[in-house]
Amino acid sequence: MHKLLGLIAFVFTLHAAEIPQPVVLRAAHLFDGKSNTLVSPGLVVVVDGKITGIGPAAKIPSDAKTIDLGDATLLPGFIDAHTHVSMPYMEDWKQQTLNSLQKNIPELTLMSLAEVRNTVMAGFTTVRDVGSSDFIDVGLRNAIAGNLIPGPRMLVSIHAIGSTGGHCDNTGFRFNLFGRETGPEDGVINSPDEARRAVRLNVKYGADVIKTCATGGVLSLADDVDTPQLTQEELNALVDEAHALRRKTAAHAHGATGAKRAIRAGIDSIEHGSFLDDEALDMMRAKGTVLVPTLMAGWQLGKMLENGVYMPPPIAAKARLAIASMSNTFQKALAKGVTIGFGTDAGVEPHGLNAKEFELMVKLGMKPVDALKCATSINAELLGISQLTGTLESGKAADIIAVPGDPLKDITVTQRVKFVMKDGWIVKN
Ligand SMILES: [Zn+2]
Repeated sequence: MHKLLGLIAFVFTLHAAEIPQPVVLRAAHLFDGKSNTLVSPGLVVVVDGKITGIGPAAKIPSDAKTIDLGDATLLPGFIDAHTHVSMPYMEDWKQQTLNSLQKNIPELTLMSLAEVRNTVMAGFTTVRDVGSSDFIDVGLRNAIAGNLIPGPRMLVSIHAIGSTGGHCDNTGFRFNLFGRETGPEDGVINSPDEARRAVRLNVKYGADVIKTCATGGVLSLADDVDTPQLTQEELNALVDEAHALRRKTAAHAHGATGAKRAIRAGIDSIEHGSFLDDEALDMMRAKGTVLVPTLMAGWQLGKMLENGVYMPPPIAAKARLAIASMSNTFQKALAKGVTIGFGTDAGVEPHGLNAKEFELMVKLGMKPVDALKCATSINAELLGISQLTGTLESGKAADIIAVPGDPLKDITVTQRVKFVMKDGWIVKN
């Protein structure tokens, strides 16, 4: 209990955001989220939480406070399209499993407060959170939107929707341990009608986005990593229902067969995509399906395997398979011109390291400026929030960050964010 009170005090002490007032941000450079070059010098005017001007010609209110960030680059707040902020990172696999079974939901929620704070402090002012439990994601989203706690703007998915025994079901426990089999109420479906019911339930209880598991996954016990787990008809129904209700869709998919079913169904993004073949990538290119490669998940699992960190042997074997394939798939997607989004699978690795993904993308051959676009304008488009954020333009929300120096010369400066403003509130300076 003392630990919990300490955590609450910690979070609230650090939520000393400054009240929005007209502000002029100056820095050596500016990246607007869509151009191929930086503008120098950089200047942004913020009034009432919105951007009202960019560049030297912008009209500056007489009562504006100037913040000069010096040799730094101003950028749109970053967007991570694949997080699990209600899943605090824990290296100890057994303890993490016990936590999810033993801890009360309020305690699990409070444990997530530090994670949403770490995320926004790293310059990620928006996240698409793709899979949670017990509505913790909805609670976090609402508390952040109500300014009760510091954190990124959240688009949440509640339950990821998958099949019985699939990656998004609870597997690895004995039959009937929990007194009933999982169903659409838990995001577990076995027919097109159940797919529609699960989508409707998620939307009813507050989902902004619909996440599905089209294939097996790495960190689940009862499935192969690449098998398809939903039929074409189930995915068609799921995507159709989600789009009818104006929700975007994201499919966890490692294997090519399941991914192609999701692409054919009209899914908006393929997450991970470790074993996508040429046909799947060509279909994505043709349909405009976005690939969110989550290279960081592979990076983290690779490090853990190298260090001999315990994971159940079937999971370790699946991790090795995915890691061996994902870099090559990323490079093929890049060469084919598939639209690539930015996502980290944070929770698989510690929250707040999100910007490491830029470094991994650049190491595999992406241009730094293109990597920055993935986490700004491209992700805003993918999430359906490009009217609100993702670029530095007049009329957009004042989600603005600053990194030291020039990120086009050294992409790793994105891991040392020195200033964060969200909706005009300064959360880090
Ligand atoms: Zn994930």
